[in-house]
Amino acid sequence: MSTGKAHLYRPRAERKAESDANRALINWDLLQSLAVKPHPNQNHVPHDDLPMGVGEVLQEALAAQHLLDLVGIPLGLYDDQTIDARTFLAVLEVQKLRERLDRIVSWHSRETGPGGMVDDYCTECRNTWPCDTRRMAEGTYTDPEESADV
Ligand SMILES: [Zn+2]
Repeated sequence: MSTGKAHLYRPRAERKAESDANRALINWDLLQSLAVKPHPNQNHVPHDDLPMGVGEVLQEALAAQHLLDLVGIPLGLYDDQTIDARTFLAVLEVQKLRERLDRIVSWHSRETGPGGMVDDYCTECRNTWPCDTRRMAEGTYTDPEESADV
């Protein structure tokens, strides 16, 4: 699992493929509905005489505040109400979660023996390696019942 930012600066073709995949995931209808919904942290009144692009940025800020609500970032009381401060808290939360998942992945590693021999079992839970816990932490687990339905 990559937690660094080196992945942000890959060749354009790779980024385009990733961008296409991400754009297919984004719920644009939800973003549009959130962009016009009032939010207690974002007090601005839409009007038509804003410089070009400013209205869009304000709408994106509204949507972002609502999205931060969805993932449980506190509204804040002071300067912690701002979109950048709340986003910072969301980034900290993502980093913490990635660290926890990385720790689980490292705990559920493949058993090794002397001379570089490997076994077919997990060192932590003794299930066949890679165990379900490791695959869940890596994001590669597929539920056998769900796969059968497809
Ligand atoms: Zn395991």
